[in-house]
Parts: sequence; structure tokens; C-alpha cells
Amino acid sequence: VKKNPSEPEFHQAVKEVLESLRVVVEANEDKYRREALLERLVEPERQFKFRVPWVDDKGQVQVNTGYRVQFNSAIGPYKGGLRLHPSVNIGIIKFLGFEQIFKNSLTSLPIGGGKGGSDFDPKGKSDREVMAFCQSFMTELCKYIGADTDVPAGDIGTGAREIGFMYGQYKRIRGLSEGVLTGKGLSYGGSLARTEATGYGLLYLTQELLKINGLELAGKTVAVSGSGNVAIYATQKAQQLGAKVVTASDSTGWVYDPEGIDVAALKEIKEVKRARLTEYKNYRPNAEYHEGRGVWSVKVDVALPCATQNELLIDDAKALVANGCIAVAEGANMPTTLEATEYLQANGVIFAPGKAANAGGVATSALEMSQNSERLSWSFEEVDSKLQGIMVNICHNMSDAAEKYGAKGNYVVGANIAGFEKVAEAMLAQGVC
Ligand code: NDP
Repeated sequence: VKKNPSEPEFHQAVKEVLESLRVVVEANEDKYRREALLERLVEPERQFKFRVPWVDDKGQVQVNTGYRVQFNSAIGPYKGGLRLHPSVNIGIIKFLGFEQIFKNSLTSLPIGGGKGGSDFDPKGKSDREVMAFCQSFMTELCKYIGADTDVPAGDIGTGAREIGFMYGQYKRIRGLSEGVLTGKGLSYGGSLARTEATGYGLLYLTQELLKINGLELAGKTVAVSGSGNVAIYATQKAQQLGAKVVTASDSTGWVYDPEGIDVAALKEIKEVKRARLTEYKNYRPNAEYHEGRGVWSVKVDVALPCATQNELLIDDAKALVANGCIAVAEGANMPTTLEATEYLQANGVIFAPGKAANAGGVATSALEMSQNSERLSWSFEEVDSKLQGIMVNICHNMSDAAEKYGAKGNYVVGANIAGFEKVAEAMLAQGVC
């Protein structure tokens, strides 16, 4: 805390991971201490902070701050998204980068951990303004990334449009047509099923987790928060698997649709019109729209937080438990506070942490990198079936690790240990670096 003041989200993420690694660390105490393994683990290998000037539609110059944190490359090139949101600061990027190390390790694919972004807000900006920002951002970022060194992707505020503008600028400056970004459009090296991957992956893992606990997803009522990339495809896959999703939200309000969320309407509002959820009632007159927060007050069997960090608080956890919720799986990164997580676990709720549950996005990004390297494109079915296999594998790995270390059913502990072990082994094998 003294070394990195004013980074509460980073401290929160480190605390959660280190606490759950206690058993493993105690078993290897002398070695880890001598090698300063944990001290190295929490210190990014490198971090960049840069000026991003761009001209708005009125001819006014605007200035944003850009970040890229290259956290850990022990098991492969840095990999992690770019977040564009006014709340972005170095502490947020570091928390996301730190989490990414273990998530990427859990996928069993050779990718290290990194994260980046800017305090730029794409909301309400014209396409030309977004392009001006993205080009300026990439003009600086391109010095530090590459297909074999660091491969950024999308995250909050960075979708296909932003990735396209950034990729165009990278190619223009570096003269390289390479898989330097993932989440690219299908016409220039993107992978089928990448758009759907995080939401679909979340449901594949949730379904498997319920199964190993003797439960079924089909027939369950589900609350989803958010209405962006992860939320939309989580809702779609949940419905395909026979569950009923009854909520959606954005940063101003939320929707309750007792007949089940209309995914086509959601996609049109958020992806095509880039509008607010207030519009949902125009498509579904029987649905309710409420200002503010409230998704977790609805009586559901399964809760899938898919918006942002710290959006499921202790009172929300209490409401979920009181309403008989049996499982919470995190589509977003760290959406549940530590206090809320502990309350859910103490009350018998099956809890799947984001680093396992939302790893489908980065896993499919790594599959996009493989396709770019071999200059081939795989079919939707091929990518989707690999994704499914990866999520089922993650589910079993975290469950087995929890059991092995005496914490059966504690998937936070299981995911952290399973992710950590491989990174620790690689770091120790590579010497002091
Ligand atoms: P999007 O930008 O597509 O959507 C984000 C959604 O969350 C929007 O509905 C947005 O509402 C809402 N939201 C954002 N910030 C806030 C806030 N401060 N308070 C309330 N609501 C908010 O992002 P994604 O769907 O891509 O990402 C969602 C989460 O999933 C993030 O935590 C991200 O890190 C994580 N994730 C994403 C992956 C991916 O592949 N996309 C992969 C793994 C994790 P509004 O429209 O009003 O801003």
C-alpha cells in the first residue's frame, strides 16, 4: 500500500489472490522467499503512461492519458484488453493486468498478462472523433506492442470499431500485417466466435459447475447485469441452454423483463443504435425500466454480473441469498466485492470468480493469434468447440485444485492456485528476471 498509494482496486485484487495462495506459499516458503517470488509477482515488468492528444469535431484539441501495463511474460507474450472509460487510472489498469496473469494461465494457452486503456469516453463521440483518438493512442502504443511481444484486445468501451481504427494505424506506422490486436473484424484477420466468446464461455463454465454440484442450468431463472459485449452473449447462450434471463442494465438504469430478455432488441439498442436501455420498453411494453441499480434485488436462481468492477456489494449478496440464489458466476472482472464474495460463499452459494468464468474471451483471442500465425481461419463451430473444451477444463482444474488444497468447493481459492502454479513454475525456471 505504501509503495503504490491511491490504487485501491489493485490492492483489493492482490489481497484476494495472496490470501487464497496461503497454503501453497506456506508449503514452499523458503524457496519463494529466497527467490522473492511474490514480490516479483506483484511488480509489473514494465508500465507505460502517455499523452493522447486528438482534435474534436469543433476543432478543439482534447488530451487524454493512455496506459499499458506489461505485467508478466513468464508463460508467453503479454495479453489483455484496452479499456476506454472515464474511470480508468493506473490502479484500475494494474488490477486488471494482475488478474489477467492468472486468468491467462488458467486457459492453459501460452499467454502472459497485461492490460491497458485510457480515460477517453467513446460514449457520445462521433465516429470521426473515436478514430482521431484511436489513431493518436496507437501512434504511441505501437512502439511497445507486437505479435510476439504484447497483443492487446477489447474491453469496456473498446469494441470492433475501436480495434479496427487502432489496427489500421498500427499497420500504417509499422508496415506490418500481423496479429498485433485481437477482436479484429472478420475481413482482416479476426476470429469467428470471438465476439460471443466471453459470454458463451461464462455459460459453458456455469453449466459445468452446476453439473459437478449435481444441478442443472436448464429451467433456471437468471439475472445478468450490464448490456455490453459480455452481457449480450451471456444472455443469448443462457437462453440457448434453456435458462431464462430476466434482467439487463447499463450505468444509468436496469430492465426487468419477466418474459425473458429479448436479445435481438438488446443488440439493436446497444450495438446498432448505441443508445440507452430506456429504449427497451419500446420493444417490450410489458418490461419494467428502473433508474439506478437494482438487478440483484430480483428473485433468481443464478446471478451473472457482467458490467464492471465492484457492482455486486454486500447488500446485494444478502438480497440474492434471501431470494434463494444458488450460484454466482462473474462475467466481468472483479464485479463482486471481497465482503460480498465471502458472504455468498458462507451461505452456500456456488461462486465462480471472473478469472475463471470470463476467461473464454482471452482464450479465444489466443485462438485468433494461432489462426493469424498460420494465416488460416477456422469455422465458427471449430472455435466454439475449442472454447467449450477450454471452459470445461478450467472448471475442473479449479475444482480439483481447491479439493487438493483442502478447500473443496471454494473456487476462488481453486482458480487462484491453479493459475498461480504454472506462472510460479515458469518464473522460477527462468531465473531472477
Ligand atoms: P462493454 O463496454 O461492451 O459493456 C460494459 C457494460 O457495463 C455496459 O452495459 C456499461 O453500461 C456497463 N458499465 C460500464 N461501466 C459501468 C459502471 N461504472 N457502472 C455501471 N455500469 C457500467 O464491456 P464488456 O462487456 O466488454 O466488459 C464488461 C466486463 O467484462 C468488464 O469488467 C470487462 O473487463 C470484462 N471482460 C470483458 C471481456 C470481453 O471479451 N469483452 C473479457 C473478459 C472480461 P454503459 O453502456 O452505460 O456504459
